[in-house]
Amino acid sequence: MSARFGFEILATDGRARRGRMTVAHGDVQTPAFMPVGTRAAVKGITIGQLGDLGADIMLANAYHLHLRPGDQAVAEAGGLHGFTGWTKPILTDSGGFQVFSLAGRRTVNEEGVIFQSHLDGSARALTPESVADIQARLGSDIAMIFDECPAWPVEHGGASSAMERTLRWARRGRDRFEALSAGQVPDVFRPTPGQAQFGIIQGSTFKDLRDQSVKGTVGVGFEAYAIGGLSVGEPSDVMYDIVGHTAEQLPAETPRYLMGAGMPNDLVEAVSRGIDLFDCVLPTRNARNGQLFTRQGAISIKNARYAGDLRPLDEACQCPTCRTHSRAYLRHLFMTGEMSSGILNTVHNLHFYLDTMGRIRKAIEFGIFENFAREFLDGYSRRHPD
Ligand SMILES: [Zn+2]
Repeated sequence: MSARFGFEILATDGRARRGRMTVAHGDVQTPAFMPVGTRAAVKGITIGQLGDLGADIMLANAYHLHLRPGDQAVAEAGGLHGFTGWTKPILTDSGGFQVFSLAGRRTVNEEGVIFQSHLDGSARALTPESVADIQARLGSDIAMIFDECPAWPVEHGGASSAMERTLRWARRGRDRFEALSAGQVPDVFRPTPGQAQFGIIQGSTFKDLRDQSVKGTVGVGFEAYAIGGLSVGEPSDVMYDIVGHTAEQLPAETPRYLMGAGMPNDLVEAVSRGIDLFDCVLPTRNARNGQLFTRQGAISIKNARYAGDLRPLDEACQCPTCRTHSRAYLRHLFMTGEMSSGILNTVHNLHFYLDTMGRIRKAIEFGIFENFAREFLDGYSRRHPD
């Protein structure tokens, strides 16, 4: 097991980068999509199925796992890898986004956040230090700092104070991470010694705040950097503008992670602006709601027109769902509420996202990413033909 974080850029095409990120549990080919397994499980599929889909890395959430089953219990099970049986890389989000979403049930001060557990209402506290400890016990390959993510829209003043607090918390979170890495916190068992830590750039949709956040966060120094606080309701063109503006100021030699985005077209747009890593609940959540992604846009499988449609969901898709079942059957499973509906739909949607990233990587390697992006966006934005 490598204990060193690494990132190698294998090819570039415009601002798009084709790379390989190395973390403690292996390599991640970038640009990469990280399926979201908030509670150490990707909703709708098993860990084995996630591996069969070819995912290089899974995301889990420190906040949720701290509350249940508890990070100490996970540490005693050998960390998330021992606990889940997933042997490849894992990134844990800090839970900042989730805690700040608990409007009315949390109090923020300089020390951290006091909140009521969404499970049993008990009072809990998270600080930049405790979040680093939780993620050390979880044993993820990549830990995210604890940040303050403001809602959107937000005034400049509110975005500024959240960004500045995130910077101060970044310093504290990094100090704690370094103490943990140096073995100076003996009561915290760390199943993954080579854990890396990513900083998070905040500043909402204000470029001057993004600039300050980049400067301060890079000044603290992390293995890599994420762009947070986007994909929270702002228009797509605003998000793309902020992503492009922020990404070009981040160090070229480290991966850039756009948190929480997005639709398939968002992935292509962000790669063209220099983003390497993504996560989003859309492919799994929408699968359970019957919305399925194809190269010609998204379709709703519950639509009556699919009742007698014996074609595969997506003729171009090589996933087990499309190779085995018809639209008529998938609609029937959805309409009758069969458990296999969510499973088959999730397999297809995740395959679509992972396959799209594979096609993006090839296009960058061959130096044809601009063409690929134009064709993809053109096909995806057309109304689905049927
Ligand atoms: Zn498929």
